[in-house]
Amino acid sequence: MAARHSYRLFDVTLTRRTQVSPSLVRFTFTGPEVNQMATHAPDQRIKLFFGEAPGSLDALFDVVHQHQDEWYAAFRALPEAKRPAMRTYTIRALRPESAEVDVEFVLHGDTGPASRWAMRAQPGDRLAMTAPIAGPESAQVGFEWKPPRDVRRILLVADETALPAAAGIIEQLAERAGPARVDALIEMPLRGDVQALPSSAQVHWLPRDATPGCAHGEHLLRAVRDIDLRYEIVALGGKAESSETIDEPATDQAFWEAATVDDSAPFYAWVAAETKVALGIRRYLVNECGLPKRYVTSMGYWCEGKVLG
Ligand SMILES: Cc1cc2nc3c(=O)[nH]c(=O)nc-3n(C[C@H](O)[C@H](O)[C@H](O)COP(=O)(O)OP(=O)(O)OC[C@H]3O[C@@H](n4cnc5c(N)ncnc54)[C@H](O)[C@@H]3O)c2cc1C
Repeated sequence: MAARHSYRLFDVTLTRRTQVSPSLVRFTFTGPEVNQMATHAPDQRIKLFFGEAPGSLDALFDVVHQHQDEWYAAFRALPEAKRPAMRTYTIRALRPESAEVDVEFVLHGDTGPASRWAMRAQPGDRLAMTAPIAGPESAQVGFEWKPPRDVRRILLVADETALPAAAGIIEQLAERAGPARVDALIEMPLRGDVQALPSSAQVHWLPRDATPGCAHGEHLLRAVRDIDLRYEIVALGGKAESSETIDEPATDQAFWEAATVDDSAPFYAWVAAETKVALGIRRYLVNECGLPKRYVTSMGYWCEGKVLG
């Protein structure tokens, strides 16, 4: 996931739980070394470890203590019953001066260890977290939000799991205003999940409960089609028809394709959602809109019916 020495394991304790909306809870953690944590971008990814079996977090910290830089292999070798479940999340906010870090969880029921923890968590609960280390010798890795300097058009596409990252991106765009026009398409479970965000982006909230029987991602796919990107790409100097195509079938494996734009690129898309949804949007942008693949970052944040770990 990240270069060695740029991430490390932190021992964190929950201090506050804040209901952001019916489907999203913000957890504020502290810990003796959170003042040494760093975040480099609004989509900074971290790993959280959930010790459902008694003593499993202690086993993880023992492994790190004994194996230092090689701890991850030793962690994977722990017997399953003693190995805490590991899941990927986003740093929503970091306040090193007060040793606090916020992470927002989607509540999707009791089906996985992370959501199960989030439904019941109370101040005082302990977790382990791998996160970037502050300091000049620490490489800035573990994020994909890398907009080109001269970008004129940005498309953000997120489902609820990527809302913490997308909200952070929109807030950052408000602080570092550029000339780019930004559309943010955000699909959430409920109308009540809409939250206030800065006007640096035209935010299109797409609650699924507004359309009974609506499948996950259906609104996102429709909303992307509703934006006439083919016309815009030509206007920005791109080609109407790209020679590139994506024809992989929908996948139920982890899916991750990062853009490789240089600073002169006029267009940038950041897409994070359920795997098949993210792939479907990528296929539309490249195959039908003629967008070069290198302008599009597409990430499967989770996979319906599967555990990615
Ligand atoms: C880079 C990155 C950043 C992420 N940031 C966040 C974040 O900030 N907040 C956040 O909430 N999630 C985030 N996620 C997504 C999160 O890692 C997954 O949702 C994860 O599967 C949750 O783990 P779990 O233990 O609850 O469920 P798992 O044990 O992984 O899965 C159990 C079952 O639940 C299903 N499932 C998993 N997630 C959901 C969901 N959201 N809705 C419905 N069903 C689901 C799975 O398909 C599976 O069938 C991020 C993922 C990535 C890759």
